[in-house]
Amino acid sequence: MKDVYEDFGATVGPVTYSRSLTFVLTHDCPWHCAYCGFRADRRGLLTGDELERLLRDAAGGGAREALLISGERPDSLPHIREELVRRGFADFWDFAISVADRCTAAGLFPHGNFGRMSEAELFRIRPHFLSMGMMLESARDEPRLAPEKRAAGRIACLEAAGRARIPFTSGILVGWGESQASRLDSLAALADLHSRYGHLQEILIQRYVPNAGSRWPAGPEPTLGEYREMMGRWRQWAPGVAIQIPPNLEPRWRVLLPWIDDLGGISWARDEVNPASPWETVESYADACRQAGRELAERLPVYDSHRNATWLSGDWLRRAEEFHAGAWA
Ligand code: SF4
Repeated sequence: MKDVYEDFGATVGPVTYSRSLTFVLTHDCPWHCAYCGFRADRRGLLTGDELERLLRDAAGGGAREALLISGERPDSLPHIREELVRRGFADFWDFAISVADRCTAAGLFPHGNFGRMSEAELFRIRPHFLSMGMMLESARDEPRLAPEKRAAGRIACLEAAGRARIPFTSGILVGWGESQASRLDSLAALADLHSRYGHLQEILIQRYVPNAGSRWPAGPEPTLGEYREMMGRWRQWAPGVAIQIPPNLEPRWRVLLPWIDDLGGISWARDEVNPASPWETVESYADACRQAGRELAERLPVYDSHRNATWLSGDWLRRAEEFHAGAWA
């Protein structure tokens, strides 16, 4: 059979990445996804002191992107609601907006990922974020893996993000025991969403790596042939939408490098969602790219494909354009 990838060719442009620092607004989450090593029960919200320390760290490390993340719908938890009231916030989104605005005032570009959100919530917080994201993970429900989450809810959120015209990142989780047919179904669902709204700027094909606290064993890793099929199909179904492979989660990323567009957020600090999988240095990634005949280039959380008035409000577009004209001219 003809190699599916031959039809689409390798990527020839630079491999991109985003210099990023993660701001965890809260680890607390009402759900119990078996693969998750991130959630906690009663750790509470990011404090003001922690926020200021992170902002100093971001400045010292040269971050451009502030990745704001949390458990899903944390203010469904009574102790979080109490803390929000005590600290003078109307609700969790009010808190998320305040942190995003503080990051923006410090010169960072906030990218938000808070799990499933309603359309009204997306429209409300969108002006405070340059871009946002949420993993589809899988288009098929696996109740043993994520008992409270349903694919239909995540797809509805991805549709709402398209209607809200938010430059968006999504993707699939691989290596937890899923079939190749399921992976391709999930990619097809993302491609369908993009064909209707045009909002996906990149998708992750993200390896599942158990962390301390994960209760789900790693499944068989996708073979290189399966990766090639996924990447080839994606190029066919959603041309121009970047493919990100997080290099700290996929040890074979160098082999896949000729077909990778993006390495995602890379930080000197730990990966807050996958603390068992530290990143290498940017210099090490740049070396590997050079050896593959590619250049490693920094990007903002918004891709060039969405850095225009269709996707960004006047203020964000001006800031992103000024940044490109100044820092990367
Ligand atoms: S994966 Fe997200 S929704 Fe699931 S338990 Fe972890 S933080 Fe909560």
